[in-house]
This record gives sequence, C-alpha cells and structure tokens, in this order.
Amino acid sequence: MKRATEEDLVRFFAMTRRQGKCLVWTGARRQGHRPYGRFTHDGKARSAHRWIYEQVHGKLRDDIDVMHKCDNPPCVEINHLTIGTRTDNIQDAVSKGRVLAGERHPGAKLTVPFVREIRRLYGSGNFTQRELAEQFGVSPSTISSIVNEVSYAIR
Ligand SMILES: [Zn+2]
Repeated sequence: MKRATEEDLVRFFAMTRRQGKCLVWTGARRQGHRPYGRFTHDGKARSAHRWIYEQVHGKLRDDIDVMHKCDNPPCVEINHLTIGTRTDNIQDAVSKGRVLAGERHPGAKLTVPFVREIRRLYGSGNFTQRELAEQFGVSPSTISSIVNEVSYAIR
C-alpha cells in the first residue's frame, strides 16, 4: 500500500461533506446495497472508507473488513470506522490485535501529510478543532497542538 501524500489527502477530503456527525463521500460510489465511496489511489480503485482507515492504522489483512459504527456506508469519518468480522476466526484475530498485513505505520496516526491537511482544513475556517478531532480520530488537544504548531514542527 502506497502511503498518501498531502495531495492525495487534499483530493480525498475534497470529495467529502459533513452531514451531522458523519463525513459523507460525495465522489463516485460503489453500486449496490452498500454504496461505499470509491477512491482511486496509485492506479487502484479502493473503498474510500477502507483506504482512509488503512492510511491511519496501517494495511489490514485482506480478510479483515472495515465496518461502519454509524451504519452509513458512504461515511469516511475515521472515528465511525472499526475493524470487523466475517467469521469467528477473524473475530479472534481482531481480539488479539493480529489484523495488520504489514507493520504498523511508524508514528501511527499523524504523519506529515495528515498534519498538513489538518492545518489546511482548519485554516479554511470550515471546521472547528472539535470536528477535526472527530474526523481524524484524535483528541481535541492533539488538534490544538497541531494547529498551534506546538508539538508538530512541520512546515
Ligand atoms: Zn458516520
């Protein structure tokens, strides 16, 4: 899995719209009864919610699903996504934390492109720090230190 660049994240979040607590995909959707967003990255069309989840948490094993706690298939809000289960076997892997196909992303959630994208979104004036915290699955104090450049000295 290729890591997202800042440009990828800008492109991704440009295809979303806040709808209540959900961040809903406005780009292409998969046909059928689970209308997941479709996002093309590195030449491959992917489920948008799975793509963003893997960008944050690391590449998942193919037999692990990314599910919606909000039961809203086009939602891509990180906090509304969770890894799920098709069989008891997978439930076991999930409970033991053996779900990643590769290594956990170093530095976990907030890589440079994410930090830049958070600053850009905050700077747009369209999002509060609390909304960004929900969207990126981090605490409001983390967002605060990012937008105030306290602990993330990245330009
Ligand atoms: Zn949602």
